[in-house]
Amino acid sequence: MKVPFLDLLAQYRSIEADAQAALNSVIEKTAFAGGPFVSQFEEEFAAFCDCERAVGVGSGTDALWAALLAMGVGSGDEVITAANTFIATAEAISFAGARPVFVDVEEHSYNMDPAQLSERINNRTRAIIPVHLYGRTADMDPILEIASKHNLVVIEDASQAHGAEYKGRRAGSMGDMGCFSFYPGKNLGAFGEAGAIVTNRTEQAKYAAQFRDHGQAQKYYHDMIGWNARMDGIQGAILSVKLKRLDEWNAIRRRHADLYDELLAPVKDVITPPRTEGYLSVYHIYAIRHPRRDDLMEYLKSKDIYCGIHYPVPLHLQKAYESLALDKGAFPVSEKVAGEIISLPMYAELTEEQIHYVAEMIRSFPTN
Ligand SMILES: *Cc1c(COP(=O)(O)O)cnc(C)c1O
Repeated sequence: MKVPFLDLLAQYRSIEADAQAALNSVIEKTAFAGGPFVSQFEEEFAAFCDCERAVGVGSGTDALWAALLAMGVGSGDEVITAANTFIATAEAISFAGARPVFVDVEEHSYNMDPAQLSERINNRTRAIIPVHLYGRTADMDPILEIASKHNLVVIEDASQAHGAEYKGRRAGSMGDMGCFSFYPGKNLGAFGEAGAIVTNRTEQAKYAAQFRDHGQAQKYYHDMIGWNARMDGIQGAILSVKLKRLDEWNAIRRRHADLYDELLAPVKDVITPPRTEGYLSVYHIYAIRHPRRDDLMEYLKSKDIYCGIHYPVPLHLQKAYESLALDKGAFPVSEKVAGEIISLPMYAELTEEQIHYVAEMIRSFPTN
């Protein structure tokens, strides 16, 4: 048996007719850049996230960047985010002109540790970007409380958490703005690059919508210096097709996670993902921990099971951020888990048989 890490073709087969019809209508209307298919998706996605507005952009990285600018974050400001996230979170902060300030994560959840936020806050701090890693939200109540106490902007990086919930609230709807990526491998993935901002803030949504389109108020009348960060029409149309299935796909991912949990909980040396009341994860990634992660990964590969690591190097140890002069040991939890996490195959089209096979092979990994 072979178990790929991801199978985007299998997902495409399950929506082939609708996807082809959607692509055709975009082509027939030649609505390629922005346009009606993007607007329609924005309306649907805002509703899905329990928000008033959505602004479709070119990528999740664009969404984070535009959200920071829309909230007035810029040069001289500091923005706090987790040390173990995808680099885009920090890149957006840097390209907004601000300085990323990292905070360590909770060992059980791999998300931003709210208890460590206060010591990172000073008079330059303007915003916090909690990342909902692996499809499970960060602990938002204490984060929002600290932010409100210090008058800080909160931008959720919900790139891995489409449809996730925290105490009944949808990911992206809790902070000032929520940012999503529709990179093909995400729970809601485009046929290329795409992203979106969701928010209840009308003025800031308007800013982001203008920014992504060269600052245009109307065609060739530019109210501000913007950028080209528009969403393609094809992506809007495909995302509308897929959004209709997303709750169902997420529910299947949760069932898969339940099965993995059940089969792996008794296995020596394996730590399964956290289960805490109040969190509804969408399991973008099903990551376990193992003290001999690299050996286990090689072993599984020899059994035709393909895994990933999200992420092997925390941001403060990336060459790109060496100017921050943060040494090894600065964020011990992030560093520790980076050496132990392994992401198992996880997608709606995965079969129970495949999950049993993966668990069986992990059980058969020789302990020494
Ligand atoms: C995927 C991802 C991004 C970036 O999204 P792109 O669409 O690839 O630009 C940002 N943050 C996190 C946590 C992500 O997983």
